Amino acid sequence: MSPDPDAGTGKADQVPESGSGPAATGPKATVGLDPAQLGLGDMDAAAFRRHGYAVIDWIADYLDGVGELPVLAKVAPGQIRDSLPVAPPVAPEPFETALADLDRVLMPGVTHWNHPAFHAYFAITGSGPGILGEALAAALNVNGMLWRTSPSATELEQLVLDWLRQLLGLPEGPRGIICDTASIATTLALAAAREQADVDVRQRGLTGRSDIPLLCVYTSEQAHSSVEKAAIALGLGRDGVRLIGTDPEFRMDTAALAEAIRADVRRGHRPIAIVPTVGTTSTTSVDPVAATADVRDEVAEELGHPVWLHVDGAYGGMLAVCEEHRWVLDGVDRADSFVTNPHKWLFTPIDCSALFVRDADALPRAFALVAEYLTTDDEDVTDYMDWGIQLGRRFRALKLWLVMRYFGAEGLVARIRHHVDQARRVAAWVDEHPDLEVAAPVPMSTVCFRARPRWLAGADEAALGDLNRRLLAGINATGAAYLSHTVLGDRYVLRLAVGNLRTTDERLDATCALIDRELSALRSR
Ligand code: PLP
Repeated sequence: MSPDPDAGTGKADQVPESGSGPAATGPKATVGLDPAQLGLGDMDAAAFRRHGYAVIDWIADYLDGVGELPVLAKVAPGQIRDSLPVAPPVAPEPFETALADLDRVLMPGVTHWNHPAFHAYFAITGSGPGILGEALAAALNVNGMLWRTSPSATELEQLVLDWLRQLLGLPEGPRGIICDTASIATTLALAAAREQADVDVRQRGLTGRSDIPLLCVYTSEQAHSSVEKAAIALGLGRDGVRLIGTDPEFRMDTAALAEAIRADVRRGHRPIAIVPTVGTTSTTSVDPVAATADVRDEVAEELGHPVWLHVDGAYGGMLAVCEEHRWVLDGVDRADSFVTNPHKWLFTPIDCSALFVRDADALPRAFALVAEYLTTDDEDVTDYMDWGIQLGRRFRALKLWLVMRYFGAEGLVARIRHHVDQARRVAAWVDEHPDLEVAAPVPMSTVCFRARPRWLAGADEAALGDLNRRLLAGINATGAAYLSHTVLGDRYVLRLAVGNLRTTDERLDATCALIDRELSALRSR
């Protein structure tokens, strides 16, 4: 029996054709509707095909022309919401009407992360194969909570993670899980570290206990805030996070790390994890992972209990696909866990974050809890619900698999290498510019720089900060490019990150010219 008795019967075509648009209710509103909308079923195959082609055309046109749009949305807070009805439609609306509103109402409020001149934060690409992978995953709509609930989802996830491990030149051994974000991956890793501390938080919790010392996590002052957020979520608290100082190139000072750990031990605290970063958020500096692993080994031996080493390579880990840059992962083979995000620098649409763990039982030890209705008699399978907090899981592996197959290892390497070259090109341009200076080494595809113009010679940091803030605002206000900022010590600096596959050298030259123009404009003002 058809789930939709009206589908394809033509019944809907019999309603009067004098409808007055999508806002109307009652019979008139049915004009332009697909027949299936008036029954009980889903959009039927014919309508899906028609709207699907329109959506694919829309996406193809968007990606083709995105470079002509203003990168940064220029809307006032509340403007988008105010442009849409406050309540959901009572009657069905033609799909075309909603699609038209995407153009009319939503697009002005979209900041275009897929724009070739998007250089803020970490520039990324939702690539063609990745976008199509998202669509296919939505069509399958599987929930990979158990192996049984979709063996392909679980096994493809295991496979693509192993492919990724190989691409990054890491030795065999670690097992992985795809999370939504690195923030969640780091939270899972630190939960495993907390479990390893043998204080039975899983059963007894942290509250109401006087038998637990302060559990400490060590990361650098350049680390991403997700480490502290994980500590907040896990009840370790921000007080449990030690932000270790860095060297002049923003890399964790491992002597200071060892000292901080020993000082904590003397105070009766319990070190449970060290989190070095490969590609810090501000400058993409690379902490000396092997040296932090040495510290971890020494301390663990002294303490007589293990200390977890989690490496945050959310962005920078991907650089290791290029053999000549593989040094960035030196020492990662000694880590207990490692996260890197295909959605940052492997052209996979948000969200997709790969977490590798050395001990495949570590996450289940922290999280496995099987309700009766989820028990199965499957043996030798991975039930990913045991590896984290969430039960329901998207089929994220599909898009990553398509990205890897479409570009191939060679294609991925060439593209990432090109981004590094492009960043170096920008850095060289800044270096040569008499009124700009590079503010940090450029090991990856992000350039930190600032204006230090001759006409402000001798100005203090406050004045330079003010100038650079205005420079950034001026550049971004043009809509032609979008850059972000950071603060290094007391210096306010601009960040230009390369990571979009549509960023041509010509486009980058145009952005450099824009920076130059905006700086000149500031001078004349
Ligand atoms: N770690 C680093 C080094 C980052 O730069 C970022 C974000 O830019 C994150 C973690 C958080 O990533 P996500 O948005 O996947 O949680």
